[in-house]
Amino acid sequence: MQAFDHHTPQTLPEALALLAQHDGTARVIAGGTDLMLYMKSGKAEPETIVNIKKLQPLQGISATNAGDLRLGALVTLRELTRSPLVLESYPSVAHAAGFMASEQIRSFATVGGNLCNASPSADLAPPLIARSASAHIVSADGEREIPLEDFFRGPGESALHAGELLQAINIPPPKGNAVYIKHAPRAFMDIAVVGVAARLELAAGRCRTASILLGAVAPTPLRARQAEAALAGQSLTDDIIANAARIASEECAPIDDIRGSAWYRRRMVGVLTRRALTALSNAQPLHAR
Ligand SMILES: Cc1cc2nc3c(=O)[nH]c(=O)nc-3n(C[C@H](O)[C@H](O)[C@H](O)COP(=O)(O)OP(=O)(O)OC[C@H]3O[C@@H](n4cnc5c(N)ncnc54)[C@H](O)[C@@H]3O)c2cc1C
Repeated sequence: MQAFDHHTPQTLPEALALLAQHDGTARVIAGGTDLMLYMKSGKAEPETIVNIKKLQPLQGISATNAGDLRLGALVTLRELTRSPLVLESYPSVAHAAGFMASEQIRSFATVGGNLCNASPSADLAPPLIARSASAHIVSADGEREIPLEDFFRGPGESALHAGELLQAINIPPPKGNAVYIKHAPRAFMDIAVVGVAARLELAAGRCRTASILLGAVAPTPLRARQAEAALAGQSLTDDIIANAARIASEECAPIDDIRGSAWYRRRMVGVLTRRALTALSNAQPLHAR
């Protein structure tokens, strides 16, 4: 690993000034569970590291006055799995975190790191986007809020500009029930071959709104919009669900790699989408892999 400068700012303005001063050449580190591996393998060779772990405004899980849930970017996966606020209102998010890595890694790994790493298989992205979450971004020049759906630009590429930090994720009050199903070859310590998040809002036995988010089957988390449209206004019979699952499997754009072929991933999108929608239409909680 090459030598690097290390800064540990104590305040957010100090951190943002440091990032501005280095003009895009400094790299932020939070839990380090992704970045340290990249640095050890030579995939990342930053000259300057800005450790953000001390920044208070990036910490904590809280309900806002607007009724949103705010997840600070430094909230760890372990905190997500234990927060009563998350478990009660957004259990699919807590369960997604609970199936990531190991307890040791979950104690370091952060929400912000998982999203800013922008891996197509990042487990938190599908369940958060299915809940219409937004990203609160800050820099020395100001702040902005964008839908999390627009945060991902490609593998390893996010909407963050040089000098920007992800400060928090805001999730609006829950509408309907949601589920996230992850499929990975090993039960634990494995990244998703396919991840499917689904959210359904039902009224009088019919689907009012649906969100279907697919992970690890496209360069970014993918919204299966045509499958969602096939559910809108429908009563959720087996045929309607099977049709939406088939459309979702046609909408994704997986690649062949060592973890699974494109053919297999596409098939699994169909299987998991059908499973998720069936569970939600029967109001059954389902958080299995
Ligand atoms: C053994 C193992 C198992 C794993 N299993 C899973 C899994 O099952 N599912 C999964 O999705 N991931 C998994 N991961 C990947 C990783 O643990 C997660 O992505 C984790 O959430 C990253 O968070 P971090 O705080 O460690 O990020 P870091 O490594 O600190 O940072 C990751 C990237 O995000 C940037 N960054 C971090 N925070 C911010 C911020 N607030 N603003 C701007 N940029 C920021 C960094 O500069 C870096 O580019 C695993 C990793 C390991 C080592």
